[in-house]
Amino acid sequence: MELLRHSLRDKPDNISVHLASVRTPAVVFDERTLREDAARVHGAAKHAGCKLLYSPKANTIRGVLDAIADAVDGFAASSVFEARLSRDVLGDGKSVHITNPGMRPNEVAEIGKFCDYVALNSLRQWQMFGPTLVKSTSCGLRVNPGMSLVRDLRYDPCREYSKLGVPLDHLESLIKRDDNSLVGISGLHFHTNSEASEFSGLLATVRHLTDRVAPLLENLEWINLGGGYLFDDAGHIEEFEECVEVLSSQYGLTVFIEPGTAIVRRGCYLVASVVDCFVSDGRSIAVLDCSTSHWPEIFEFQFEPDVVGDAEDGPYEFLLAGATCLAGDLFGTYAFDAPVRIGDKVIFANAGAYSLVKANYFNGINLPSVYAITDEGELTLENQFFYEDFARQCGGTVHANN
Ligand SMILES: *Cc1c(COP(=O)(O)O)cnc(C)c1O
Repeated sequence: MELLRHSLRDKPDNISVHLASVRTPAVVFDERTLREDAARVHGAAKHAGCKLLYSPKANTIRGVLDAIADAVDGFAASSVFEARLSRDVLGDGKSVHITNPGMRPNEVAEIGKFCDYVALNSLRQWQMFGPTLVKSTSCGLRVNPGMSLVRDLRYDPCREYSKLGVPLDHLESLIKRDDNSLVGISGLHFHTNSEASEFSGLLATVRHLTDRVAPLLENLEWINLGGGYLFDDAGHIEEFEECVEVLSSQYGLTVFIEPGTAIVRRGCYLVASVVDCFVSDGRSIAVLDCSTSHWPEIFEFQFEPDVVGDAEDGPYEFLLAGATCLAGDLFGTYAFDAPVRIGDKVIFANAGAYSLVKANYFNGINLPSVYAITDEGELTLENQFFYEDFARQCGGTVHANN
């Protein structure tokens, strides 16, 4: 427990004690932090004059959704399942929005039932589903403004051959032709950034839209600026406020934003235990009872997650490794004040976004249990997974007597 003692010395007492007592691997969410972060982003949105939606894509743990629900104006779903879950959590008081490039005819009835706002991803989607959806929802188009803000092509909705949104040129030429195919469209949606601390790209995009499709904007009711912004106080909130101001005052639009990461990243921990330690080519390896399959973006992006107690210049360097057969299933190299021993707990912080929601059973390693640290400071076990869950996903028959 030496490592844990060192690693938790900066944390509030109850959180330290709780993180030390969970059965690993575990995802632990902290309701108070989630509420704080949702309130922080909501404050920024409200001050600017726009509405805040949470994008459940980033984290769908039920208790996380419940903790956030009060502090937002609605949820922005990526699928029918997410829309249905959003409605379940929010009840009728708040709005549910959806956009999805793969919408199917057999989903339209449910989308109409669970959603208030739909951003159709293509003109074809609008032709196919618009006539039904306009009866019960406010329909808009997802637009691709064509201004790339993300370097990694895999995450750039404005990349060449993009599948996300109607290219702005197409919209512009429809408007010029005075085509009536856009009659019935009430809003525009775009989502073009990721992990951004400042808003210069957003402002440039909004200016681009007002330059190119002003006549359309004048006839709409709403615009959704997407997610991808962290609202971490790093910079230039006035540029964000200018975006909202232009769209709401000059064009009379209701403005929405729909971040995910900004709201959930800080409020969750991934807690693991060290199950083996040895030296390989001169480097100390600590094998954990979890895997990057529990947080696949670590492997996809090759980033090193934050570890509580990582001392930078600490004298004891360890490569933290996952429990699967994949040689590259590694969390990273960290330096601690004390040697890592079998049985120590390792706590990954800022683990709330795109972690458990993307987790899988690779190698048959069980998923982490889910715990909450409630507003009252109590630790509660929220969910856990068993062999039967794994077997069911494999499609095998689960025998009651096994
Ligand atoms: C992923 C996504 C979001 C949320 O993005 P974050 O980077 O988590 O803020 C919002 N809207 C759409 C359409 C998305 O695809």
